[in-house]
Amino acid sequence: MEKREQIYEGKAKKVYLTDDPDLVIVDYKDDATAFNGLKKGTITGKGVINNKMSNLLMQKLEEAGIPTHFVEELSDRETLVKKVDIVPLEVIIRNIAAGSFSKNYGVKEGTPFDAPTIEFSYKNDDLGDPLINDYHALALKLATKEEIELIKKYAFAVNDYMKAYWKERGVILVDFKLEFGKTSDGTIVLADEISPDTCRFWDAETMEKLDKDRFRRDLGGVEDAYNEIMGRLS
Ligand code: UDP
Repeated sequence: MEKREQIYEGKAKKVYLTDDPDLVIVDYKDDATAFNGLKKGTITGKGVINNKMSNLLMQKLEEAGIPTHFVEELSDRETLVKKVDIVPLEVIIRNIAAGSFSKNYGVKEGTPFDAPTIEFSYKNDDLGDPLINDYHALALKLATKEEIELIKKYAFAVNDYMKAYWKERGVILVDFKLEFGKTSDGTIVLADEISPDTCRFWDAETMEKLDKDRFRRDLGGVEDAYNEIMGRLS
């Protein structure tokens, strides 16, 4: 597969065209940002970890019946994926109160929920990714009603699978963000990444944070945490 011109550079990844119009190559960087780009830094080795973790989880999810963009891992940092139009929604599932949920609603971090929650943010940096509901997503024509229903079904299925998967590895899946895309034939697939950048992982015994919160909150031991959580995968 030939790597052609770069079509996109985001906060954590670059995307390149290939000689197949339906496939692109994602290249993961070590750059880290938080608070809508206000905080910037580097997490050495993050790109390799996020690439490998995301690929492993997407393959498992695919086996569990959730369609994903994953095609083939090409190198430590590069993966061949289906070219999609990203649905401009950040889909967040939560099992335990943390982050913006705790802040917005005054709930102590670590409070478990009886059932997982789902929320959407409108993916728009200029607007600061505002929280929206299904009706807003429809009004903004971000997706059709059917697509929104499918996205919700897939997101909860990802949570069911991942919660159990991480539990077996001594990790609590607190919350995570997903993005979905539409392939050239209109199929909705799980896209973007699933990694310590996009999930909150707590060690089940020590409750130690093993994710990007260590960077966001200047807790130290960022690289160690990424290596630790990667080591739990098998
Ligand atoms: N998240 C993400 N990208 C974002 C916002 C959130 O990957 O732009 C993830 C975050 O890592 C966490 C979950 O979504 O696992 C919920 O994040 P929250 O809404 O609590 O926001 P935060 O506290 O990170 O600002």
